[in-house]
Amino acid sequence: SSSRLPLTLIVATTPSLGIGKNGGLPWPMLKKEMAYFARVTKRVPTSSSITASSSPSSSSGGSSPNICNAVIMGRKTWDSIPPRFRPLKDRLNVVISRSPDASIAGVAEAAAKGNSVVTASSLSAALAKLEALLLINGEPLAGLGRVFVIGGAALYKAALETPNARTVLLTRIARDWDCDTFFPVDVEGPGWTRKSNDELSAFVGEEVPQGSVRELEVEFEFRLFEREG
Ligand code: NDP
Repeated sequence: SSSRLPLTLIVATTPSLGIGKNGGLPWPMLKKEMAYFARVTKRVPTSSSITASSSPSSSSGGSSPNICNAVIMGRKTWDSIPPRFRPLKDRLNVVISRSPDASIAGVAEAAAKGNSVVTASSLSAALAKLEALLLINGEPLAGLGRVFVIGGAALYKAALETPNARTVLLTRIARDWDCDTFFPVDVEGPGWTRKSNDELSAFVGEEVPQGSVRELEVEFEFRLFEREG
């Protein structure tokens, strides 16, 4: 676990830190929230805003060839994605399972369609694989943008146990929903600092609406937190 790849966690939680119910999301499908997740996890930051890349990348908003972000998820979160939407496109998908060689549903099918999915038996093994995969032309990490941890609770917990987890992109759902799965840390509490809306917009590379957004009678707000120290 000596990887130095910075990890960005991206999550939507209720005020009680609920994130899941019966293997899915506790709230109705929020298209705007899901579109934000898709844009933010796909967008490769420009070289100035990414620590791990030494190669210049396009700043025109277009994606640079051969550079993409990675999304790391637990096997149950992979299972929760409808087969037609997985692997999540334009991102390197990494699925963590204690038995990654036993067939994780859909990985072989994805490979057959030419979409490679990386599997690993732990978060640290995944980070080691990413680093090895991304040694391109001898240039460390040249092909890698950001590395996102996209859930679920078990993977967030594993990520937060490493010093690599510096940043949390949190969609705060305004009211509570019945949940059986919870985010493991309250980033609104000690140890974490909430950043401004301008800092959030700069981080994700788009202008993020300030204050609450409403969709299907559900109110939510996009927030950014950074670990202190
Ligand atoms: P996870 O998605 O975290 O997957 C858990 C599985 O991942 C484990 O069963 C195991 O797979 C593998 N795994 C987890 N930790 C490790 C580890 N340290 N080493 C090796 N393998 C590991 O499951 P959760 O139940 O925690 O979360 C799923 C729930 O979260 C769902 O309801 C989902 O909808 C929700 N969710 C919500 C999000 C939100 O933003 N609101 C985002 C993502 C998910 P195996 O059993 O194969 O060994």
